[in-house]
Amino acid sequence: MSMEFESVIGLEVHVQLATETKIFCGSSTRFGGDPNEFIDPVTLGLPGALPVLNRRVVEFAIMLGKATKCEIRRFNRFARKHYFYPDLPKGYQISQFEEPICERGSLEVHFENAVRTVGIRRIHMEEDAGKNMHDTRTETSLIDLNRAGVPLLEIVSEPDLRTPAEASAYLRTLRQMVRFLGVSDGNMEEGSLRCDANISLRPVGELKFGTRTEIKNLNSFRFVERALEYEIARQTSLLRAGQKVVQETLLYDSAADVTRSMRGKEESSDYRYFPDPDLPPLIIEEGWVNQIVGSMPRLPDQWRKELTENYGLSNYDASVLLAESENVAFFQAVFDICQNAKAACNWVTSELFGYLHKNSLTLAHSPIKPADLGALIKLIDDEVLSGKMAKSVFEEMFATSQSPQEIIEKKGLKQIANPDEIQQLVTDTISKFSSQFDAYAQGNDRLHGFFVGEVMKLSRGAANPKLVNNAILDAVKKRRSS
Ligand code: ADP
Ligand code: MG
Repeated sequence: MSMEFESVIGLEVHVQLATETKIFCGSSTRFGGDPNEFIDPVTLGLPGALPVLNRRVVEFAIMLGKATKCEIRRFNRFARKHYFYPDLPKGYQISQFEEPICERGSLEVHFENAVRTVGIRRIHMEEDAGKNMHDTRTETSLIDLNRAGVPLLEIVSEPDLRTPAEASAYLRTLRQMVRFLGVSDGNMEEGSLRCDANISLRPVGELKFGTRTEIKNLNSFRFVERALEYEIARQTSLLRAGQKVVQETLLYDSAADVTRSMRGKEESSDYRYFPDPDLPPLIIEEGWVNQIVGSMPRLPDQWRKELTENYGLSNYDASVLLAESENVAFFQAVFDICQNAKAACNWVTSELFGYLHKNSLTLAHSPIKPADLGALIKLIDDEVLSGKMAKSVFEEMFATSQSPQEIIEKKGLKQIANPDEIQQLVTDTISKFSSQFDAYAQGNDRLHGFFVGEVMKLSRGAANPKLVNNAILDAVKKRRSS
């Protein structure tokens, strides 16, 4: 981008909630059923069918609102948003308009080694629409209403973002948040997380916002960035040529990497919003909010603090563990057994992730259970296993899902830590390499490593290296003083 303009970006994100049933009826929210498998009179908007609010949806909204430091509205109402489209059988979508459940929050985004606070304007509850499917071969259109009535939260940011990369970092942080809370799987490919991006330019130094366009339905982090880059270039050349940006709604064509006009910008008056008379006002009691807050899982930022301050991990290690909530949960379970944070983190993020990756497995399908990995680390710390032996036990654990104890017994692996046995190994090695030992005793300290290596070799890697090290130092000291 040129230096003359600054971009201003605000995102509207739709998150599909991980409830069993739809927002106003008991039909399943499952993804991937047969077309129109999960429908009922409410989903179809049949005359006389009445919506009943799903309590879980409100709980999830409160959780996300609290996690993003929003105020929670006590007196809520649902509104009808009218528009005509075949995937919307009632002719209106039940949403919230003037009374969103959450307002005036913020989200901290770690971006390029700095923390940016992005304002959250509002979060509201609404229902999803169905899906039109166009068959170009037969020139017919079909409608699948499985998704109609699936609960969504719409999270509207303030126009606080300044670059496409920042917008994408915000989106990742939001996705991480909903996943940690368990309110959504945040799966962008399946459409559980969709993003509309608003963008305008203004001359650097100008405080007033320029005219914005809105790019609809971006379904990957990469597309968000690329669509915004394209829009910045397009708007820049318009402004440079002295032309105006038209406020409109755009679609991003990822194959051609361009945005295309979809429709003029709609005004809220176009939707003829009014309170839905079928749904009573929703009053949220303080006690309920407190109860929900009390049962909320630990959030990414709280985890980061815990991992770096209490567990002594680096910020980098913390970020790797925090990439997915499953990672930290696994780490925690390993730590619970071994009480060694650094080792638990290393074994999980290097060894285990490496093996999983090589075998195209996810952590959820890890053949090694966290308790067994914790037990393995404990065996190293208790000096039952050397680091080298532990690696081979780990390999066997990954292949067989057996516990380290079972493998040690099966293979007769055990570290030699008995002082008499160690001494015997050292004595045997010294007599085998007596001239080298004379040289070492006469001052050639570089031969120390040679002796450690030979003793380890003699024990087939089973001797405790620390004890071997000490025993050799003792032997040299004794020879030198004799
Ligand atoms: P609407 O009611 O049309 O959806 P809002 O005012 O609620 O519009 O804003 C929707 C989104 O657009 C918000 O995320 C907001 O931050 C963003 N936005 C508003 N004005 C601008 C602007 N001039 N440039 C970029 N983004 C903007
Ligand atoms: Mg909007």
